[in-house]
Amino acid sequence: MKILITAGPTREPIDPVRYIGNRSSGLLGQALCVAAIAAGHQVTAILGPLHLAIATGVHRTDIETAEQMHAAVLSEFPKHDLLIMAAAVADFRPVRVTDHKLARTGKLLIECEATPDILSAAGRIKQPHQRTIGFSLESAGNIARSRQKLVQKNLDLIVYNPLNTLNSASIDAVLIWPDGREEPLPARSKADFATVLIGRAKALW
Ligand code: C5P
Repeated sequence: MKILITAGPTREPIDPVRYIGNRSSGLLGQALCVAAIAAGHQVTAILGPLHLAIATGVHRTDIETAEQMHAAVLSEFPKHDLLIMAAAVADFRPVRVTDHKLARTGKLLIECEATPDILSAAGRIKQPHQRTIGFSLESAGNIARSRQKLVQKNLDLIVYNPLNTLNSASIDAVLIWPDGREEPLPARSKADFATVLIGRAKALW
């Protein structure tokens, strides 16, 4: 298979110095790259700013903003069989980016707008031979929201995981399949989870 994996956070600039970001470590995406290469797949990774080594053999593109990840995914997805969207894309970005460093005076109000939903965009151009997997980081127990996202984003599988997965070495996940089946994968290392997910991906066809 040709697998496209996104990982890490995105950074949305406020001025040349500051940005809006999140606590994503990219560890899960890193583990998915290792597992996919080990299983003999061809892997392309689109990565936000990370401090991690990425498996040898992965064709990598480094990006910074959600807009850049959006463009990279839409350009690469047609060449791949499977998209695994493990990136923690920033949900909001400043409407205006100032070209000078903002001075620290009084209050700063930053007007933000939603970033493009990359997974939904991939879901709209998905061809019959292609599959998409998304992640849904929710407050504990909120599996109903993950189910909605499976449908809204036209996914073939969604991984529900509670908030404590972020920046953690382990993941406590539930796979939600389009037929409604829930497959709990109790807490394990991200490396073990990645091996299971890459193995399960074959069942999507
Ligand atoms: O809607 P929510 O952000 O909870 O959905 C999470 C899934 O959607 C993840 O797989 C994430 O990578 C993806 N996503 C995206 N574009 C965004 C925000 C999230 O593709 N702007």
